[in-house]
Amino acid sequence: MPFDNSYARLDEKFYQLINPTPVKDPRIIMVNRELAGEMDFPLPETDSELAQMFSGNNPPQGSQPLAQVYAGHQFGNFVPRLGDGRAVLLGEFVNSHGQRYDIQLKGAGQTQYSRNGDGRSPLGPVIREYIVSEAMYRLGIPTTRALAMVSSGEKVFREQELPGAVFTRVASSHIRIGTFEYFASRNDHEGIRTLADYAIERHYPELKEAENPYAAFLGKVCSAQAKLVAGWMRIGFIHGVMNTDNTTISGETIDYGPCAFMDGYDPATVFSSIDSYGRYAYGRQPSIAQWNLAGLAGCLLPLIYDDPEQAKSHAEEIVQGFGAEFRQHYFTEMCSKIGLSANEQGRKLLDALLAIMHEAKADFTQTFHGLSKALSDDRKPVLERFADQDKITVWLDDWEKELARQKIDATTAITTMGRVNPVFIPRNHRIEQAITAAVEQDDFNPAKKLIKILANPYLEQPESSEYMAPPEPEERVYQTFCGT
Ligand code: AMP
Ligand code: MG
Repeated sequence: MPFDNSYARLDEKFYQLINPTPVKDPRIIMVNRELAGEMDFPLPETDSELAQMFSGNNPPQGSQPLAQVYAGHQFGNFVPRLGDGRAVLLGEFVNSHGQRYDIQLKGAGQTQYSRNGDGRSPLGPVIREYIVSEAMYRLGIPTTRALAMVSSGEKVFREQELPGAVFTRVASSHIRIGTFEYFASRNDHEGIRTLADYAIERHYPELKEAENPYAAFLGKVCSAQAKLVAGWMRIGFIHGVMNTDNTTISGETIDYGPCAFMDGYDPATVFSSIDSYGRYAYGRQPSIAQWNLAGLAGCLLPLIYDDPEQAKSHAEEIVQGFGAEFRQHYFTEMCSKIGLSANEQGRKLLDALLAIMHEAKADFTQTFHGLSKALSDDRKPVLERFADQDKITVWLDDWEKELARQKIDATTAITTMGRVNPVFIPRNHRIEQAITAAVEQDDFNPAKKLIKILANPYLEQPESSEYMAPPEPEERVYQTFCGT
């Protein structure tokens, strides 16, 4: 198979060479044939061969498995060494178009970075990552992908005994801000330079010609994160653990642990069971991303200029730029949710709507989706989201007037809005239902059904309309867990 394992050619201080630990009785749950097709990845034919490959029992030929080392700020606290404790990077698959994909198994057994962990994953988090990462991709958000999930036939022990599974993740790379922090905290300048050169070569090769490639690299990562987080905001996604070790330099969403989609609109929404102070609340994601980028900037300083003061002021300027860039993406994306461009009127109407939604805790996805119906003369789907309908009625009038003033007809607005306002999102209670069926009844149909609906999140699917609905009070999920 066409593997070209460039990371394995770096110095050994970047990783530990280690094979996945075989599992007892692997069974394939799902394989993403569409993704395999896009990648040109030749899948083995039988279910048993697929299970052997994607459990790590029989890694693809040409792979060179390793666990990557990294550090990270977890909830603001620096941990000097984390690393792949339950993941093994099989290698880099390169197709005939030269596209390079990291293929990684999560839950593949212990590595030297496991500390006290078992290196395994329960089935629940594997299903969650598969559903949510593929939904994110279909929603148009940069993300790692799901190539396969396999049950291991082994038990894992958490608070209770749970079925084990292995998840196959595909990413443009697994280089994190925390990878830079690992070398920076050791004052390993040579390591940082090697890593930065590697990252530039792999993700932003055009920067090699830049006047100051490392400053330009920082700028690119800031831009990628600004775009990413604006995308999250548009669809109501809450990452849940925006630690620097969960922040890629490619700008792909990574590590779907206690992530969740917001139901009722409230910027303070938090789901993660371990986020007691709301550090990673929905509305704080942009400033946290900038905080993480400042961490990357700190690592890159010695590469940017020899003079520390000069390096610091230049890097600061770049990280400051994240704010304006984020706001530009944010208002463009958010104003398109009401069919307008991000001019003064558009922003004013958006802010007014969000304030009314916040007060009513109106369902984020349904309210925006309902706006298209309102333009087709059916205000009910929007109005029924609000107990008190006075303010929203005034807003709808103002909004329709503004559309008319800007000569934006209903069809045009509905088209704009239809591209950015999902009909379906992976609602937490649906994910929980899918996980429960799989774990308790060995029934993967609910998960498969959810994945199928979410393959077209912007498309009305009347036969599945119950999947649009927010949870009933008794179905509501208040907390999500890492599951590690
Ligand atoms: P996460 O918060 O899930 O990104 O993981 C943080 C760190 O804990 C990473 O270094 C993981 O590799 C490690 N880790 C999480 N779960 C396990 C596990 N079951 N066994 C070993 N290491 C783990
Ligand atoms: Mg992580």
